[in-house]
Amino acid sequence: MRSTSAIKLLSLIFLLGLPEATIPQVLDADGFVEERVSMVETQIEARGVNDARVLESMRLIPRHLFIDESLWPRAYSDRPLPISSGQTISQPYIVALMTELLQPDEHHIVLEIGTGSGYQAAVLSKLVRWVYTIEIVPELGQSAEGTLKRLGYDNVTVRIGDGYQGWPEQAPYDRIIVTAAPEEIPQELVEQLKPGGRMILPVGSQRRGQDLLVLEKDQAGNVNTRQTIPVRFVPMVH
Ligand code: SAH
Repeated sequence: MRSTSAIKLLSLIFLLGLPEATIPQVLDADGFVEERVSMVETQIEARGVNDARVLESMRLIPRHLFIDESLWPRAYSDRPLPISSGQTISQPYIVALMTELLQPDEHHIVLEIGTGSGYQAAVLSKLVRWVYTIEIVPELGQSAEGTLKRLGYDNVTVRIGDGYQGWPEQAPYDRIIVTAAPEEIPQELVEQLKPGGRMILPVGSQRRGQDLLVLEKDQAGNVNTRQTIPVRFVPMVH
């Protein structure tokens, strides 16, 4: 598969008469394009995530650049990966599923709780107007901010703090995504959601287990919550 597509591309390059110097770039801009394309096809689309914008963003964002270089060979594998401070970056499928459930739109202002590596924020930054993201561990927040800036995701603002309280100064939000699990739904976050807004969050304990919830607030401010799948996130510090 790999060699067939490479041969096709090479033939195209020769047909078009492109200089040979462009060959590596055309084949693979950052060395992991094929891994990302395959990750999207086999881990994400195969499990039923089919929002074209979400898939495109997942094909685009260089997941390996959000983790330690020693883990690059596993960057596009079907599992969560360690980042520093004992935290983890979610499995690609879970990032894709949560992003799809969020129903992001290019006009949206989004709040993320649990910046971690900054990967989820980067995926969202391609799909919405602005991402505000809060991380409680200062070293993680600072490192994510550096990565996001270096890679040019300039519609993301990182803040160090306790996300349980939300970010009232920028509220209300069209969408809220929580990537650490509280034991109960944080009411402060519900209050900071716009009418017509939506929040995706894992809720539960390590012992009882957690469920991924979709919470919707209608125009009158009524809240409706439904469970999707069981998940396993790091606990939200509270
Ligand atoms: N979204 C991240 C992964 C998140 S891991 C990514 O794409 O890499 C969960 C993160 O939530 C951890 O970094 C943890 O430190 C953070 N966290 C836990 N409790 C928090 C709280 N109360 N406020 C903000 N961040 C919190």
